[in-house]
Amino acid sequence: MTFDIFDLSLEIRKSLEKNNYKTPTKIQEEVIPLVKTKKDIIAQAKTGSGKTASFVIPILESLKAKKVSKKAKIKVLVLAPTRELTLQIADTFSNFSEFFSQKPSIVSIIGGEKIGEQLLKIQKGCDIVVATSGRLLDIIGRNQIDLSNLEFFVLDEADKMLDLGFVKELDEVLNSIPEKRQNLMFSATYPQKVLDIVSKISQNPIEVKIETASTKVDEITQRAILVKKEDRNPLLLQLIKKNKFKSVLVFVSTKRAAENISNKFRKKGYNAESFHGDLSQEERVFTLEDFKNKDIQILFSTDIASRGLHIDDIDCVINFDLPRSTEDYIHRIGRTARAGKKGVAISFLDNENIEHFKLIEKRYKLNIEKERIEGFDFTLLENIKQKGKAPIKGKRKSKKDKLREQNLNNKPNE
Ligand code: AMP
Repeated sequence: MTFDIFDLSLEIRKSLEKNNYKTPTKIQEEVIPLVKTKKDIIAQAKTGSGKTASFVIPILESLKAKKVSKKAKIKVLVLAPTRELTLQIADTFSNFSEFFSQKPSIVSIIGGEKIGEQLLKIQKGCDIVVATSGRLLDIIGRNQIDLSNLEFFVLDEADKMLDLGFVKELDEVLNSIPEKRQNLMFSATYPQKVLDIVSKISQNPIEVKIETASTKVDEITQRAILVKKEDRNPLLLQLIKKNKFKSVLVFVSTKRAAENISNKFRKKGYNAESFHGDLSQEERVFTLEDFKNKDIQILFSTDIASRGLHIDDIDCVINFDLPRSTEDYIHRIGRTARAGKKGVAISFLDNENIEHFKLIEKRYKLNIEKERIEGFDFTLLENIKQKGKAPIKGKRKSKKDKLREQNLNNKPNE
């Protein structure tokens, strides 16, 4: 499936091409046409699902179709939980309107930066405001923003806003915007508090549910193999040969490792390539195409490929190095078993990273057998010290550290 099904304008299609969006993600397939029908939506989607473009594209199409007034009026308000997400969303609006003859003016309203500049931009007139709620309320309180022409109200990552005293703030925002508007809401999970928020915003939103990473994970056979660092290359070769893997995505931690190991495999006669942030956009596109077409059998990649990209039909994902963040583990292994197919994900473990792997298992409630493979000796050291700075004698954990640990242990199962 391509974006052609949505009947998009030439300008948007140009930016899709420029941003290398070829196939719509599941959420985009569902949400883009629904937004066009003017219905309210609550969509279950998380970061990495492509949710941003799913509302940005149809909103921009709608703005484009309208007559422009002399001074821009705010027609779109997006609320997001963090500064980073706010800026990311504003960037997506700007990327996808790059080829418009009348580019909409986009303002980000975030805390921590000078309010004066943000006020000035609003006063000049703008079409799209992307904001965190605290700073927006500050500006609403000063009577410095006119939201009476609003057409779209978007709430992104609603479940991340719950602990921020957001409900009260939301009431105030809702009082400042017209009752007649289109509401688009996104949340990865639906606890009661999110449902309460949703019911404040819209009476009858259409629900969009997309298969989540955790349900997909059921389709993936997850393995963990104990192997010395220096034995990983021969083990990888053996696994590929024995299982007759035709398409293998191998995650390594550095660009240099991706280059070095892919070179070694090429010298052995394999179709291997590297994929990382130092490649030009063009090289990345070609490499991905070749991997998708099975002209490349083994792709050594840094985490650049773990999110958002759509590569179907991978037989196996190998964690040659473990991901730094536990979340990336799910993103990485989610590259296999796409479109209802079964897949395999194999993590290489050693004495240095096994504790980190246990954290990943804990977070996602996994219990993966730690295998040993014949011919690959491995001595598991119990209670070994993990790499990192030695603790300073007598220094107690700070409150922040304790909280962080607690949070890590209590992270929900995604
Ligand atoms: P999001 O879930 O909106 O944060 O998007 C995650 C990442 O996927 C972003 O880097 C997007 O640019 C990228 N992305 C979203 N949709 C597509 C698509 N259809 N094709 C390729 N990349 C996409």
